Amino acid sequence: MRGAVISMHILHVVGARPNFMKMAPVLQALTGRRSVSQTVVHSGQHFDANMSEVFFEQLGIPAPDLNLGVGPGSHAAQTCEIMKRLEGVLLQSKPDLVLVYGDVNTTLAAALVCSKLLIEFAHVEAGLRSFDRTMPEEINRVVTDQLASVLFTPSADANQNLEREGVAKERIRLVGNVMIDTLVRLLPKASSTGLKNIPARHLLVTLHRPSNVDDGMRLKEILGALAELSRLIPVVFPVHPRTRARMASLELDSRPGNRLLLQEPVGYLEFLGLQRSAAVVVTDSGGIQEETTFLGVPCLTLRENTERPITVTMGTNKLVGHEMAALQREVRAVLEGRAKKGSVPPLWDGRAAERIAAAIA
Ligand code: UDP
Repeated sequence: MRGAVISMHILHVVGARPNFMKMAPVLQALTGRRSVSQTVVHSGQHFDANMSEVFFEQLGIPAPDLNLGVGPGSHAAQTCEIMKRLEGVLLQSKPDLVLVYGDVNTTLAAALVCSKLLIEFAHVEAGLRSFDRTMPEEINRVVTDQLASVLFTPSADANQNLEREGVAKERIRLVGNVMIDTLVRLLPKASSTGLKNIPARHLLVTLHRPSNVDDGMRLKEILGALAELSRLIPVVFPVHPRTRARMASLELDSRPGNRLLLQEPVGYLEFLGLQRSAAVVVTDSGGIQEETTFLGVPCLTLRENTERPITVTMGTNKLVGHEMAALQREVRAVLEGRAKKGSVPPLWDGRAAERIAAAIA
């Protein structure tokens, strides 16, 4: 018979930029726990240094114990490859619990592999729904949540969504927002001063959702609107690799007076610095809708829906859809001092990961 000390092996699976900010505080909160050992497996879904490595450095998390090196591919190819490579790892390491994060292909792949191997897994950031199944992330969320043993949610709306889908109440824990944990911890270190030629007053942009960047006409229209807006205020745009690839074939507006500053993706501390000082943020990112709400910075989301409705009902976020006239109007309103005011949702207090660690223990 084993001794009295029960040990628990927790294996975290991550793979893409927004996963790293979510895992960091959980990893840290569990590190302090006696008799917990942890392993980090990176799928390699994001592999550019500025989409992956920089976050491990800046967030102060150890390099992954293992990188599956899957790289790019179609949704099916990438998900399958992660599943194939992860299966062997899980069979060998036999973790007591796997933690998966967010809504990327890595999350779905790990959920499927764990379920078939009868390994318990918990989903961090469960229950978010855009109710838009044309979004690949929505498919990942719905399937992952059906299979998870434990579902850690960031806000009460997520609990309601899960209960409506028949997830047993006792499997759901409302813990708050882990991405905000990382923001709270690192805000004192946030700074964009290391970046060249960033105007103090600016409009900050990120775009990477298929609905905005996959259709060349739409992307061109958005870039045209941003070039127009840059006549009012400089526009800083760190371009996601997915978007960069789509932009390669487009002719960009280079008329004088255009102050659209295209950049490579920047590190977390730099991006937080840019967000904090932005007059307004224009995005289709999930995480950035939350971070701007916490920071009280006006956010205009170029989407028809959001899986994070609390950022609209309580926060500074506004859905502007896909009409560029609406974007122009909303940016002008903010610049004229008519920005939406907001407040910080409950449990977005920097302690969500502590609550996760306590629940796991
Ligand atoms: N982010 C960053 N550098 C950038 C753009 C974004 O560090 O150039 C951070 C941002 O602060 C947030 C996260 O990346 O923490 C959001 O990731 P992303 O928009 O890629 O994914 P989503 O949240 O839409 O799933």
